[in-house]
Amino acid sequence: MTDPNFSAAPYAAEIQFALQAVRRAARLVRQVQAELVTPALTKGDRSPVTVADFASQALVGCLLSQSFPEDGLVAEEDSEALRQPDEAATLEQVARFVKSELPQATPEAVCAWIDHARVDSARRFWTLDPIDGTKGFLRGDQYAVALALVVAGQVQVGVLGCPNLVGGSQPDLYGPGSLVVAVRGQGTWTTPLTGAAGFERLLVSGQIDPAQARLLRSFESGHTNVSQIDVFAQALGIQAAPVRMDSQAKYAVLAAGEGDLLLRLLSPEKPDYREKIWDQAAGSLVLEEAGGCISDLDGKALDFSTGRALVNNRGILASNYRLHDLALQALKNIGA
Ligand code: AMP
Ligand code: MG
Repeated sequence: MTDPNFSAAPYAAEIQFALQAVRRAARLVRQVQAELVTPALTKGDRSPVTVADFASQALVGCLLSQSFPEDGLVAEEDSEALRQPDEAATLEQVARFVKSELPQATPEAVCAWIDHARVDSARRFWTLDPIDGTKGFLRGDQYAVALALVVAGQVQVGVLGCPNLVGGSQPDLYGPGSLVVAVRGQGTWTTPLTGAAGFERLLVSGQIDPAQARLLRSFESGHTNVSQIDVFAQALGIQAAPVRMDSQAKYAVLAAGEGDLLLRLLSPEKPDYREKIWDQAAGSLVLEEAGGCISDLDGKALDFSTGRALVNNRGILASNYRLHDLALQALKNIGA
C-alpha cells in the first residue's frame, strides 16, 4: 500500500478533523517554543509550557466544537487556574498565540474553548494531550500533541504531532516534524507536519532476538523504575543501553521499526500510579496498526472505558509484537 485510503474509511471526517487539528496545534506550540523557550529561562520556570499547553487545548477545543459539537473531550487541562486574577498576564499571552490560528480568540473565548465538551467518560469521546512530554518541550527534546477518538472503549483514530521527529522516527530538532496517524484497520502512516509530502506507511521491526532489542524508556527517571529496567534488560540479555525519550514520540519510533521494546514500569515513589488515557490512546493505536503489541505489565489489554486513567491496568509493555511474550515472561520472572 503506498497511500492511505482514508476517504473511504469509516470515520473519514473524523480522520480529516484530527489531522487538521493536530497539525495546527503542533504549529502553535512550535511557535510558543520558538518565542518563549529561551536560554535565559530560569530553571523551574514552566511558563512556556503553561502557555503552550493551554493554547493547544483551546485551539483543539474550538475546532472540535465546530466539527463535532456533540462529542466529549477528555483532556489534561481546564481553565480554572487560568481564570485566577494573578494569571491574567498568562491568559493574555495564551490568547495572543491562539489568535495566530483563530483571529476571533479573546481571553474569555479561550477559557471557554479549553473547557469545551469536558467529560470524564462517554461512549464516544476524544482524548487530548495538548503537549505530551512537557519536560522534553522545555529541554528542546521530544514532545508530541496527541489526539485520539475513543468509541465504546476502543481507540479508532490516533494522531501524534511530533515537531522534533522526521519520517516519524528520527530525532531532528530543525526539520519539518512528523504527523503520525493510525486508523483502526487502515494502518499507521506518517507525513511531514508541514504537509510538504505524501504519506508513508510505518511498520514495526522484525527483530526476534532479544539480545539485539532496542529498548525505549521515559527520559524522566521519576516516570519509571530505572533499576528494574536494568534487571529486565539483563534477564533478556539485551546488550544496548535503553534509549531515553520523552512522550508518545516513543510509540512512533517503535511503529517505524526504530525500536523493539518500550517499558513504563511503576516508579518506586508512585507504585499506585495509573496511566492517563491521553498519554496512551493515540500512541497505542499508532503502534498496533503498525503491527506492534501493547499491554499492561501483566499482559492485559488496555481498557479505555474507565474514565481519565487506565485504572484496570498497571504500567505498560509495548513491543514489535514478536518480542512481547518473551518480555512478559521476563517481567514476571523479575517480579515487575
Ligand atoms: P514520558 O515522557 O513517556 O515519561 O511520558 C510523559 C507523561 O508521563 C506525562 O504526560 C505524564 O502524564 C506522565 N507521568 C507523570 N508522572 C508519572 C509517573 N509517576 N509515572 C508514569 N508516568 C507519569
Ligand atoms: Mg502527557
